[in-house]
Amino acid sequence: MKDRSAAATALYDGGHRRMFIDGNWCDARSGETIEARNPADGTLLATVPKGGRADVDAAVKAARAAFEGPWSKWTPFERQALLLRIADRFEEEWENLCLSDTLDMGMPIQRTIANSRRVLGMLRFYAGQAVAIHGATIPNSFPGEIYSQTVREPIGVVGAIIPWNAPIAGSIWKIAPAIATGCTVVLKPSEEASLTVLMIARIMQEAGLPDGVLNIVTGMGFEAGAALAEHDGVDKIVFTGSTATGQAIARAATGNLKRVSLELGGKSPVIVCRDADIEKAVPVAAMAVFANSGQICIAGSRLFVAREIHDEFVRRVADYAAGLRIGHGIHEDTDIGPIISARQAKRIAGYLDAGPREGAEVITGGARAEGPELAGGHFFQPTVLGGVTDDMSVAREEIFGPVISALPFDDLDEVVARANATPYGLAAGVFSTHLGTAHKLAHRLKAGSVWVNMYHAIDPAVPFGGVKMSGYGREGGTEHMEEYLDTKAIWINA
Ligand code: NAD
Repeated sequence: MKDRSAAATALYDGGHRRMFIDGNWCDARSGETIEARNPADGTLLATVPKGGRADVDAAVKAARAAFEGPWSKWTPFERQALLLRIADRFEEEWENLCLSDTLDMGMPIQRTIANSRRVLGMLRFYAGQAVAIHGATIPNSFPGEIYSQTVREPIGVVGAIIPWNAPIAGSIWKIAPAIATGCTVVLKPSEEASLTVLMIARIMQEAGLPDGVLNIVTGMGFEAGAALAEHDGVDKIVFTGSTATGQAIARAATGNLKRVSLELGGKSPVIVCRDADIEKAVPVAAMAVFANSGQICIAGSRLFVAREIHDEFVRRVADYAAGLRIGHGIHEDTDIGPIISARQAKRIAGYLDAGPREGAEVITGGARAEGPELAGGHFFQPTVLGGVTDDMSVAREEIFGPVISALPFDDLDEVVARANATPYGLAAGVFSTHLGTAHKLAHRLKAGSVWVNMYHAIDPAVPFGGVKMSGYGREGGTEHMEEYLDTKAIWINA
Protein backbone atom coordinates (compact mmCIF):
# COMPACT_ATOMS: atom_id res chain seq x y z
CA MET A 1 0.00 0.00 0.00
CA LYS A 2 1.25 3.44 -0.92
CA ASP A 3 2.08 5.81 1.95
CA ARG A 4 0.89 9.26 0.95
CA SER A 5 1.68 11.12 4.21
CA ALA A 6 4.75 12.95 2.86
CA ALA A 7 2.95 13.88 -0.34
CA ALA A 8 0.03 15.19 1.73
CA THR A 9 2.26 17.47 3.80
CA ALA A 10 4.04 18.68 0.69
CA LEU A 11 0.70 19.53 -0.93
CA TYR A 12 -0.83 21.52 1.92
CA ASP A 13 1.29 22.91 4.73
CA GLY A 14 -1.18 25.38 6.24
CA GLY A 15 -0.20 28.20 3.85
CA HIS A 16 -2.47 30.52 1.92
CA ARG A 17 -4.11 29.84 -1.47
CA ARG A 18 -5.58 32.58 -3.64
CA MET A 19 -8.71 32.64 -5.75
CA PHE A 20 -8.71 33.10 -9.53
CA ILE A 21 -10.26 36.11 -11.27
CA ASP A 22 -9.51 37.21 -14.85
CA GLY A 23 -6.39 35.07 -14.97
CA ASN A 24 -5.00 36.59 -11.76
CA TRP A 25 -4.52 34.87 -8.41
CA CYS A 26 -5.97 37.26 -5.86
CA ASP A 27 -7.30 37.74 -2.32
CA ALA A 28 -10.75 38.88 -1.26
CA ARG A 29 -11.22 42.65 -1.34
CA SER A 30 -12.16 42.41 2.34
CA GLY A 31 -8.90 40.62 3.11
CA GLU A 32 -10.90 37.98 5.00
CA THR A 33 -10.07 34.28 4.75
CA ILE A 34 -11.63 30.86 5.42
CA GLU A 35 -9.74 27.97 6.97
CA ALA A 36 -9.61 24.73 5.01
CA ARG A 37 -9.23 21.90 7.51
CA ASN A 38 -8.83 18.19 6.91
CA PRO A 39 -12.12 16.63 8.11
CA ALA A 40 -10.29 13.42 9.08
CA ASP A 41 -8.14 15.01 11.78
CA GLY A 42 -8.83 18.74 11.89
CA THR A 43 -5.38 19.82 10.68
CA LEU A 44 -5.18 23.17 8.90
CA LEU A 45 -4.48 22.50 5.22
CA ALA A 46 -4.58 26.08 3.97
CA THR A 47 -6.49 29.33 4.14
CA VAL A 48 -8.48 30.62 1.15
CA PRO A 49 -10.02 34.04 0.47
CA LYS A 50 -13.50 34.70 1.78
CA GLY A 51 -14.77 36.31 -1.41
CA GLY A 52 -17.78 38.60 -1.21
CA ARG A 53 -20.12 40.62 -3.40
CA ALA A 54 -17.37 42.89 -4.84
CA ASP A 55 -15.22 39.89 -5.76
CA VAL A 56 -18.17 38.19 -7.46
CA ASP A 57 -18.85 41.41 -9.35
CA ALA A 58 -15.23 41.58 -10.58
CA ALA A 59 -15.37 37.93 -11.64
CA VAL A 60 -18.65 38.39 -13.53
CA LYS A 61 -17.24 41.45 -15.33
CA ALA A 62 -14.13 39.46 -16.30
CA ALA A 63 -16.30 36.60 -17.55
CA ARG A 64 -18.44 39.04 -19.57
CA ALA A 65 -15.38 40.72 -21.11
CA ALA A 66 -13.92 37.35 -22.09
CA PHE A 67 -17.27 36.14 -23.46
CA GLU A 68 -17.69 39.19 -25.67
CA GLY A 69 -13.99 39.55 -26.42
CA PRO A 70 -11.27 37.15 -27.49
CA TRP A 71 -13.01 33.95 -26.37
CA SER A 72 -15.86 34.54 -28.83
CA LYS A 73 -13.34 34.30 -31.69
CA TRP A 74 -12.17 30.82 -30.70
CA THR A 75 -13.30 28.19 -33.18
CA PRO A 76 -14.97 24.97 -32.00
CA PHE A 77 -11.79 23.14 -33.01
CA GLU A 78 -9.68 25.39 -30.79
CA ARG A 79 -12.02 24.87 -27.86
CA GLN A 80 -11.90 21.12 -28.52
CA ALA A 81 -8.10 21.16 -28.56
CA LEU A 82 -8.05 23.11 -25.29
CA LEU A 83 -10.28 20.54 -23.56
CA LEU A 84 -8.06 17.72 -24.81
CA ARG A 85 -4.94 19.52 -23.53
CA ILE A 86 -6.64 20.00 -20.16
CA ALA A 87 -7.47 16.27 -20.05
CA ASP A 88 -3.83 15.41 -20.73
CA ARG A 89 -2.66 17.78 -17.99
CA PHE A 90 -5.20 16.21 -15.61
CA GLU A 91 -3.67 12.80 -16.27
CA GLU A 92 -0.22 14.14 -15.41
CA GLU A 93 -1.49 15.72 -12.17
CA TRP A 94 -3.87 12.91 -11.30
CA GLU A 95 -2.25 11.71 -8.11
CA ASN A 96 -2.13 15.24 -6.62
CA LEU A 97 -5.69 16.06 -7.67
CA CYS A 98 -7.09 12.95 -5.99
CA LEU A 99 -4.94 13.40 -2.90
CA SER A 100 -6.12 17.01 -2.63
CA ASP A 101 -9.76 15.92 -2.75
CA THR A 102 -9.19 13.26 -0.10
CA LEU A 103 -7.44 15.72 2.21
CA ASP A 104 -9.93 18.52 1.67
CA MET A 105 -13.20 16.62 1.92
CA GLY A 106 -12.33 13.20 3.32
CA MET A 107 -13.35 10.83 0.52
CA PRO A 108 -11.23 7.64 0.73
CA ILE A 109 -8.40 7.84 -1.79
CA GLN A 110 -9.43 4.64 -3.58
CA ARG A 111 -12.83 6.09 -4.21
CA THR A 112 -11.47 9.51 -5.18
CA ILE A 113 -9.30 7.82 -7.78
CA ALA A 114 -12.06 5.56 -9.12
CA ASN A 115 -14.72 8.26 -8.99
CA SER A 116 -12.65 10.97 -10.55
CA ARG A 117 -11.36 8.80 -13.40
CA ARG A 118 -14.54 9.58 -15.20
CA VAL A 119 -13.53 13.23 -15.19
CA LEU A 120 -11.02 12.46 -17.95
CA GLY A 121 -13.89 10.95 -19.91
CA MET A 122 -15.94 14.10 -19.27
CA LEU A 123 -13.24 16.40 -20.62
CA ARG A 124 -12.82 14.24 -23.72
CA PHE A 125 -16.56 13.76 -24.22
CA TYR A 126 -17.19 17.53 -24.18
CA ALA A 127 -14.19 18.04 -26.46
CA GLY A 128 -16.13 15.93 -28.98
CA GLN A 129 -19.32 17.85 -28.33
CA ALA A 130 -17.57 21.18 -29.01
CA VAL A 131 -17.38 20.38 -32.72
CA ALA A 132 -20.86 18.83 -32.93
CA ILE A 133 -22.94 21.95 -32.23
CA HIS A 134 -25.17 22.80 -35.15
CA GLY A 135 -28.54 24.27 -36.04
CA ALA A 136 -31.03 23.29 -38.74
CA THR A 137 -32.50 24.55 -41.98
CA ILE A 138 -36.27 24.44 -41.52
CA PRO A 139 -38.93 24.22 -44.23
CA ASN A 140 -41.41 27.11 -43.85
CA SER A 141 -44.55 28.53 -45.49
CA PHE A 142 -42.62 30.39 -48.21
CA PRO A 143 -40.71 27.69 -50.13
CA GLY A 144 -38.03 28.99 -52.46
CA GLU A 145 -38.53 32.58 -51.28
CA ILE A 146 -37.64 32.76 -47.64
CA TYR A 147 -35.17 30.57 -45.84
CA SER A 148 -35.35 29.92 -42.14
CA GLN A 149 -32.56 28.41 -40.14
CA THR A 150 -31.49 28.03 -36.55
CA VAL A 151 -28.08 28.67 -35.06
CA ARG A 152 -26.95 27.54 -31.62
CA GLU A 153 -25.25 30.20 -29.56
CA PRO A 154 -23.52 30.03 -26.18
CA ILE A 155 -25.84 31.27 -23.46
CA GLY A 156 -23.23 33.68 -22.04
CA VAL A 157 -21.83 34.03 -18.54
CA VAL A 158 -22.58 30.96 -16.41
CA GLY A 159 -22.57 31.12 -12.62
CA ALA A 160 -21.73 27.68 -11.22
CA ILE A 161 -22.24 26.79 -7.55
CA ILE A 162 -21.17 23.36 -6.30
CA PRO A 163 -21.24 21.38 -3.03
CA TRP A 164 -18.30 19.85 -1.21
CA ASN A 165 -18.91 16.16 -1.75
CA ALA A 166 -17.21 15.62 -5.13
CA PRO A 167 -15.22 18.74 -6.06
CA ILE A 168 -13.31 17.28 -9.04
CA ALA A 169 -16.25 15.75 -10.88
CA GLY A 170 -18.64 18.44 -9.64
CA SER A 171 -16.59 21.31 -11.02
CA ILE A 172 -15.59 19.67 -14.31
CA TRP A 173 -19.21 18.77 -15.03
CA LYS A 174 -19.93 22.50 -14.98
CA ILE A 175 -16.77 23.86 -16.62
CA ALA A 176 -16.25 21.39 -19.50
CA PRO A 177 -19.60 21.98 -21.26
CA ALA A 178 -19.13 25.73 -20.80
CA ILE A 179 -15.77 25.59 -22.58
CA ALA A 180 -17.23 23.29 -25.26
CA THR A 181 -20.07 25.71 -26.06
CA GLY A 182 -18.07 28.96 -25.77
CA CYS A 183 -19.62 30.18 -22.51
CA THR A 184 -17.57 31.69 -19.70
CA VAL A 185 -17.84 30.73 -16.03
CA VAL A 186 -17.74 32.14 -12.53
CA LEU A 187 -17.57 29.16 -10.19
CA LYS A 188 -18.10 29.27 -6.45
CA PRO A 189 -16.93 26.08 -4.76
CA SER A 190 -18.22 25.06 -1.36
CA GLU A 191 -16.66 26.83 1.61
CA GLU A 192 -16.07 23.30 2.97
CA ALA A 193 -13.90 22.19 0.02
CA SER A 194 -12.31 24.80 -2.26
CA LEU A 195 -8.73 23.61 -2.54
CA THR A 196 -9.01 21.07 -5.36
CA VAL A 197 -11.09 23.48 -7.44
CA LEU A 198 -8.28 26.04 -7.17
CA MET A 199 -5.82 23.36 -8.27
CA ILE A 200 -8.08 22.62 -11.26
CA ALA A 201 -8.03 26.31 -12.25
CA ARG A 202 -4.24 26.32 -12.12
CA ILE A 203 -4.04 23.23 -14.35
CA MET A 204 -6.45 24.79 -16.83
CA GLN A 205 -4.50 28.05 -16.89
CA GLU A 206 -1.30 26.10 -17.58
CA ALA A 207 -3.09 24.26 -20.38
CA GLY A 208 -3.80 27.59 -22.10
CA LEU A 209 -7.23 28.66 -20.84
CA PRO A 210 -7.60 32.37 -21.70
CA ASP A 211 -8.06 34.94 -18.95
CA GLY A 212 -11.64 35.44 -17.76
CA VAL A 213 -13.06 32.24 -19.28
CA LEU A 214 -13.01 30.55 -15.86
CA ASN A 215 -13.07 32.51 -12.62
CA ILE A 216 -13.14 30.93 -9.17
CA VAL A 217 -14.50 32.93 -6.24
CA THR A 218 -14.06 31.12 -2.95
CA GLY A 219 -16.41 32.16 -0.17
CA MET A 220 -19.54 31.50 1.81
CA GLY A 221 -22.84 30.46 0.28
CA PHE A 222 -24.92 33.21 1.85
CA GLU A 223 -22.43 35.87 0.64
CA ALA A 224 -20.53 34.95 -2.53
CA GLY A 225 -23.06 32.28 -3.57
CA ALA A 226 -26.07 34.53 -3.07
CA ALA A 227 -24.31 37.43 -4.87
CA LEU A 228 -23.67 35.17 -7.88
CA ALA A 229 -27.23 33.84 -7.98
CA GLU A 230 -28.62 37.39 -7.92
CA HIS A 231 -26.12 39.04 -10.27
CA ASP A 232 -27.66 40.69 -13.32
CA GLY A 233 -24.52 40.03 -15.35
CA VAL A 234 -25.03 36.26 -15.10
CA ASP A 235 -27.08 34.60 -17.84
CA LYS A 236 -27.45 31.16 -16.29
CA ILE A 237 -26.94 29.51 -12.93
CA VAL A 238 -25.97 25.85 -12.79
CA PHE A 239 -26.27 24.64 -9.23
CA THR A 240 -25.62 21.41 -7.38
CA GLY A 241 -26.47 21.23 -3.70
CA SER A 242 -29.35 20.90 -1.28
CA THR A 243 -32.98 21.37 -2.23
CA ALA A 244 -33.39 24.28 0.21
CA THR A 245 -30.47 26.18 -1.34
CA GLY A 246 -31.76 25.33 -4.82
CA GLN A 247 -35.06 26.97 -3.94
CA ALA A 248 -33.25 30.09 -2.68
CA ILE A 249 -31.22 30.23 -5.89
CA ALA A 250 -34.29 29.86 -8.11
CA ARG A 251 -35.87 32.78 -6.23
CA ALA A 252 -32.71 34.91 -6.45
CA ALA A 253 -32.52 34.29 -10.20
CA THR A 254 -35.84 36.00 -10.91
CA GLY A 255 -34.28 39.52 -10.91
CA ASN A 256 -32.98 39.25 -14.47
CA LEU A 257 -34.84 36.00 -15.27
CA LYS A 258 -31.57 34.16 -15.73
CA ARG A 259 -31.93 30.52 -16.65
CA VAL A 260 -31.39 27.99 -13.84
CA SER A 261 -30.62 24.29 -13.69
CA LEU A 262 -30.64 22.49 -10.39
CA GLU A 263 -29.12 19.17 -9.28
CA LEU A 264 -30.50 18.74 -5.76
CA GLY A 265 -30.98 16.27 -2.96
CA GLY A 266 -32.56 12.84 -2.86
CA LYS A 267 -33.99 10.01 -0.78
CA SER A 268 -33.50 7.31 -3.35
CA PRO A 269 -35.19 3.91 -3.09
CA VAL A 270 -33.41 0.62 -3.75
CA ILE A 271 -35.87 -2.22 -4.39
CA VAL A 272 -34.72 -5.80 -3.89
CA CYS A 273 -37.24 -8.24 -5.36
CA ARG A 274 -37.62 -11.77 -4.08
CA ASP A 275 -35.98 -13.14 -7.24
CA ALA A 276 -32.88 -10.94 -6.85
CA ASP A 277 -29.39 -12.44 -7.01
CA ILE A 278 -28.74 -11.88 -3.31
CA GLU A 279 -25.03 -12.60 -3.50
CA LYS A 280 -24.52 -9.82 -6.02
CA ALA A 281 -27.10 -7.45 -4.59
CA VAL A 282 -25.80 -7.29 -0.98
CA PRO A 283 -22.53 -5.38 -1.54
CA VAL A 284 -24.09 -3.10 -4.14
CA ALA A 285 -27.09 -2.24 -1.97
CA ALA A 286 -24.76 -1.59 0.98
CA MET A 287 -22.40 0.65 -0.96
CA ALA A 288 -25.35 2.45 -2.54
CA VAL A 289 -25.37 4.26 0.80
CA PHE A 290 -22.01 3.73 2.46
CA ALA A 291 -19.87 5.02 -0.42
CA ASN A 292 -18.40 8.37 0.61
CA SER A 293 -19.95 7.78 4.06
CA GLY A 294 -23.40 8.37 2.62
CA GLN A 295 -22.45 11.88 1.52
CA ILE A 296 -23.71 11.42 -2.01
CA CYS A 297 -26.85 12.85 -3.52
CA ILE A 298 -27.82 9.51 -5.09
CA ALA A 299 -27.45 7.51 -1.84
CA GLY A 300 -29.92 4.62 -2.02
CA SER A 301 -30.97 5.21 1.56
CA ARG A 302 -34.41 3.54 1.50
CA LEU A 303 -33.81 -0.19 1.11
CA PHE A 304 -37.10 -1.87 0.19
CA VAL A 305 -36.73 -5.67 0.41
CA ALA A 306 -39.35 -8.30 -0.50
CA ARG A 307 -40.72 -9.66 2.78
CA GLU A 308 -39.79 -13.30 1.92
CA ILE A 309 -36.08 -12.46 1.82
CA HIS A 310 -36.09 -9.29 3.96
CA ASP A 311 -34.57 -10.60 7.18
CA GLU A 312 -31.80 -12.59 5.54
CA PHE A 313 -30.96 -9.84 3.07
CA VAL A 314 -30.86 -7.09 5.69
CA ARG A 315 -28.74 -9.26 7.99
CA ARG A 316 -26.25 -9.80 5.17
CA VAL A 317 -26.14 -6.06 4.40
CA ALA A 318 -25.52 -5.45 8.12
CA ASP A 319 -22.70 -8.02 8.16
CA TYR A 320 -21.18 -6.37 5.13
CA ALA A 321 -21.47 -2.96 6.82
CA ALA A 322 -19.83 -4.22 9.99
CA GLY A 323 -16.82 -5.39 7.93
CA LEU A 324 -16.15 -1.97 6.38
CA ARG A 325 -12.97 -0.23 7.50
CA ILE A 326 -13.39 3.22 9.00
CA GLY A 327 -10.47 5.62 8.88
CA HIS A 328 -8.52 8.46 7.36
CA GLY A 329 -9.21 8.63 3.64
CA ILE A 330 -5.52 8.78 2.84
CA HIS A 331 -5.13 5.04 3.59
CA GLU A 332 -5.86 2.80 0.63
CA ASP A 333 -7.76 0.26 2.73
CA THR A 334 -10.25 2.80 4.13
CA ASP A 335 -13.88 2.22 3.12
CA ILE A 336 -15.58 4.81 5.32
CA GLY A 337 -13.96 8.22 5.68
CA PRO A 338 -14.94 11.17 7.87
CA ILE A 339 -18.03 13.35 7.71
CA ILE A 340 -17.25 16.76 6.27
CA SER A 341 -18.01 18.98 9.28
CA ALA A 342 -19.23 19.16 12.85
CA ARG A 343 -22.50 20.60 11.53
CA GLN A 344 -23.13 17.59 9.28
CA ALA A 345 -22.05 15.20 12.04
CA LYS A 346 -24.58 16.76 14.41
CA ARG A 347 -27.27 16.32 11.78
CA ILE A 348 -26.45 12.62 11.32
CA ALA A 349 -26.29 12.05 15.08
CA GLY A 350 -29.76 13.63 15.29
CA TYR A 351 -31.16 11.01 12.89
CA LEU A 352 -29.43 8.20 14.80
CA ASP A 353 -31.29 9.42 17.89
CA ALA A 354 -34.58 9.99 16.08
CA GLY A 355 -34.68 6.58 14.34
CA PRO A 356 -34.83 4.40 17.49
CA ARG A 357 -36.96 7.01 19.26
CA GLU A 358 -39.54 6.72 16.48
CA GLY A 359 -39.44 2.90 16.71
CA ALA A 360 -36.63 1.75 14.40
CA GLU A 361 -34.24 -1.00 15.50
CA VAL A 362 -30.47 -0.60 15.14
CA ILE A 363 -29.30 -3.76 13.35
CA THR A 364 -25.70 -2.60 13.08
CA GLY A 365 -23.84 0.63 13.81
CA GLY A 366 -26.00 3.39 15.19
CA ALA A 367 -23.28 5.55 16.74
CA ARG A 368 -20.19 7.61 16.14
CA ALA A 369 -17.02 5.61 15.48
CA GLU A 370 -14.36 6.24 18.12
CA GLY A 371 -10.69 5.33 18.34
CA PRO A 372 -7.28 6.96 18.75
CA GLU A 373 -6.74 7.20 15.00
CA LEU A 374 -10.17 8.80 14.54
CA ALA A 375 -9.58 11.61 17.02
CA GLY A 376 -10.03 15.07 15.56
CA GLY A 377 -12.47 13.95 12.89
CA HIS A 378 -16.18 13.08 12.75
CA PHE A 379 -16.66 9.40 11.94
CA PHE A 380 -19.79 7.24 12.03
CA GLN A 381 -20.32 3.51 12.04
CA PRO A 382 -22.10 2.32 8.90
CA THR A 383 -25.61 1.87 10.17
CA VAL A 384 -28.54 -0.33 9.18
CA LEU A 385 -31.91 0.45 10.75
CA GLY A 386 -34.67 -2.19 10.66
CA GLY A 387 -38.32 -1.99 11.60
CA VAL A 388 -38.52 1.33 9.76
CA THR A 389 -41.89 2.60 8.58
CA ASP A 390 -42.47 5.08 5.78
CA ASP A 391 -43.54 7.87 8.13
CA MET A 392 -40.33 7.92 10.22
CA SER A 393 -37.97 10.84 9.66
CA VAL A 394 -35.13 8.44 8.73
CA ALA A 395 -37.28 7.13 5.87
CA ARG A 396 -38.43 10.54 4.66
CA GLU A 397 -35.51 12.96 5.00
CA GLU A 398 -32.11 13.11 3.35
CA ILE A 399 -29.58 12.18 6.05
CA PHE A 400 -26.41 12.54 3.96
CA GLY A 401 -24.66 10.04 6.21
CA PRO A 402 -23.98 6.27 6.31
CA VAL A 403 -27.49 5.21 7.33
CA ILE A 404 -29.72 2.64 5.59
CA SER A 405 -33.41 2.40 6.43
CA ALA A 406 -34.63 -1.13 5.64
CA LEU A 407 -38.32 -1.50 4.76
CA PRO A 408 -40.11 -4.76 3.86
CA PHE A 409 -42.66 -4.88 1.02
CA ASP A 410 -45.24 -7.41 -0.17
CA ASP A 411 -46.02 -6.64 -3.81
CA LEU A 412 -44.75 -4.59 -6.69
CA ASP A 413 -47.64 -2.12 -6.96
CA GLU A 414 -47.26 -1.38 -3.28
CA VAL A 415 -43.49 -0.85 -3.45
CA VAL A 416 -43.74 1.42 -6.49
CA ALA A 417 -46.28 3.60 -4.71
CA ARG A 418 -44.16 3.75 -1.55
CA ALA A 419 -40.89 4.34 -3.42
CA ASN A 420 -42.49 7.22 -5.32
CA ALA A 421 -44.11 8.72 -2.20
CA THR A 422 -41.33 11.24 -1.64
CA PRO A 423 -40.83 14.82 -2.77
CA TYR A 424 -37.50 13.72 -4.28
CA GLY A 425 -36.82 11.95 -7.59
CA LEU A 426 -33.09 11.73 -8.19
CA ALA A 427 -32.27 8.03 -8.51
CA ALA A 428 -33.51 4.51 -7.83
CA GLY A 429 -32.15 0.97 -7.86
CA VAL A 430 -33.86 -2.30 -8.73
CA PHE A 431 -32.55 -5.80 -8.09
CA SER A 432 -34.35 -8.62 -9.92
CA THR A 433 -33.32 -11.50 -12.15
CA HIS A 434 -36.66 -11.26 -13.96
CA LEU A 435 -36.24 -8.96 -16.94
CA GLY A 436 -39.94 -8.09 -17.11
CA THR A 437 -40.10 -7.12 -13.44
CA ALA A 438 -36.97 -5.01 -13.66
CA HIS A 439 -38.23 -3.34 -16.81
CA LYS A 440 -41.65 -2.52 -15.37
CA LEU A 441 -40.19 -1.13 -12.16
CA ALA A 442 -37.64 0.97 -14.04
CA HIS A 443 -40.45 2.56 -16.03
CA ARG A 444 -42.74 3.19 -13.08
CA LEU A 445 -40.21 4.71 -10.70
CA LYS A 446 -40.19 8.51 -10.73
CA ALA A 447 -36.49 9.26 -10.82
CA GLY A 448 -33.93 10.82 -13.15
CA SER A 449 -31.79 7.63 -13.16
CA VAL A 450 -32.76 4.01 -12.48
CA TRP A 451 -30.06 1.36 -12.13
CA VAL A 452 -30.98 -2.29 -12.55
CA ASN A 453 -28.81 -4.89 -10.79
CA MET A 454 -26.23 -2.17 -10.19
CA TYR A 455 -25.96 1.28 -8.64
CA HIS A 456 -23.98 4.53 -8.93
CA ALA A 457 -23.09 4.40 -12.62
CA ILE A 458 -22.62 7.89 -14.00
CA ASP A 459 -21.07 8.47 -17.39
CA PRO A 460 -20.29 11.66 -19.30
CA ALA A 461 -22.29 10.43 -22.28
CA VAL A 462 -25.44 9.56 -20.29
CA PRO A 463 -27.78 12.28 -18.96
CA PHE A 464 -28.04 12.64 -15.19
CA GLY A 465 -30.42 14.78 -13.15
CA GLY A 466 -33.55 14.79 -11.07
CA VAL A 467 -37.30 15.13 -11.23
CA LYS A 468 -39.63 16.65 -8.64
CA MET A 469 -37.70 18.38 -5.84
CA SER A 470 -34.44 16.78 -6.90
CA GLY A 471 -34.21 19.52 -9.50
CA TYR A 472 -34.40 20.13 -13.23
CA GLY A 473 -31.95 20.19 -16.11
CA ARG A 474 -29.54 17.45 -17.12
CA GLU A 475 -25.82 16.99 -16.88
CA GLY A 476 -24.09 14.52 -19.17
CA GLY A 477 -25.01 13.46 -22.66
CA THR A 478 -26.01 15.73 -25.51
CA GLU A 479 -28.84 17.08 -23.30
CA HIS A 480 -26.20 18.75 -21.19
CA MET A 481 -25.10 20.93 -24.09
CA GLU A 482 -28.65 22.28 -24.36
CA GLU A 483 -28.26 23.77 -20.87
CA TYR A 484 -25.47 26.04 -22.15
CA LEU A 485 -26.91 26.97 -25.55
CA ASP A 486 -29.57 29.29 -26.91
CA THR A 487 -31.31 28.82 -30.24
CA LYS A 488 -31.62 31.77 -32.60
CA ALA A 489 -33.92 31.64 -35.64
CA ILE A 490 -32.66 33.50 -38.71
CA TRP A 491 -35.01 34.37 -41.61
CA ILE A 492 -33.57 35.23 -45.01
CA ASN A 493 -35.63 36.76 -47.80
CA ALA A 494 -33.49 35.61 -50.72
P1 NAD B 1 -25.61 23.33 0.17
O1 NAD B 1 -26.86 23.56 -0.60
O2 NAD B 1 -25.54 23.73 1.57
O3 NAD B 1 -24.40 24.11 -0.55
C1 NAD B 1 -24.11 23.93 -1.91
C2 NAD B 1 -23.42 25.16 -2.44
O4 NAD B 1 -24.34 26.26 -2.38
C3 NAD B 1 -22.20 25.60 -1.64
O5 NAD B 1 -21.22 26.09 -2.51
C4 NAD B 1 -22.75 26.72 -0.76
O6 NAD B 1 -21.76 27.64 -0.39
C5 NAD B 1 -23.74 27.35 -1.71
N1 NAD B 1 -24.82 28.11 -1.06
C6 NAD B 1 -25.34 27.97 0.18
N2 NAD B 1 -26.31 28.88 0.40
C7 NAD B 1 -26.42 29.60 -0.74
C8 NAD B 1 -27.26 30.68 -1.14
N3 NAD B 1 -28.19 31.20 -0.34
N4 NAD B 1 -27.12 31.18 -2.39
C9 NAD B 1 -26.21 30.66 -3.23
N5 NAD B 1 -25.36 29.65 -2.90
C10 NAD B 1 -25.47 29.13 -1.67
O7 NAD B 1 -25.25 21.80 -0.04
P2 NAD B 1 -24.01 21.00 0.57
O8 NAD B 1 -24.26 20.78 2.02
O9 NAD B 1 -22.74 21.64 0.14
O10 NAD B 1 -24.15 19.62 -0.23
C11 NAD B 1 -25.05 18.63 0.14
C12 NAD B 1 -26.30 18.68 -0.68
O11 NAD B 1 -26.01 18.68 -2.06
C13 NAD B 1 -27.18 17.47 -0.46
O12 NAD B 1 -28.52 17.85 -0.34
C14 NAD B 1 -26.97 16.64 -1.71
O13 NAD B 1 -28.01 15.78 -2.00
C15 NAD B 1 -26.79 17.70 -2.73
N6 NAD B 1 -26.07 17.19 -3.91
C16 NAD B 1 -26.75 16.96 -5.06
C17 NAD B 1 -26.10 16.44 -6.16
C18 NAD B 1 -26.84 16.18 -7.46
O14 NAD B 1 -26.20 16.01 -8.49
N7 NAD B 1 -28.15 16.14 -7.49
C19 NAD B 1 -24.74 16.14 -6.10
C20 NAD B 1 -24.07 16.37 -4.90
C21 NAD B 1 -24.75 16.90 -3.81
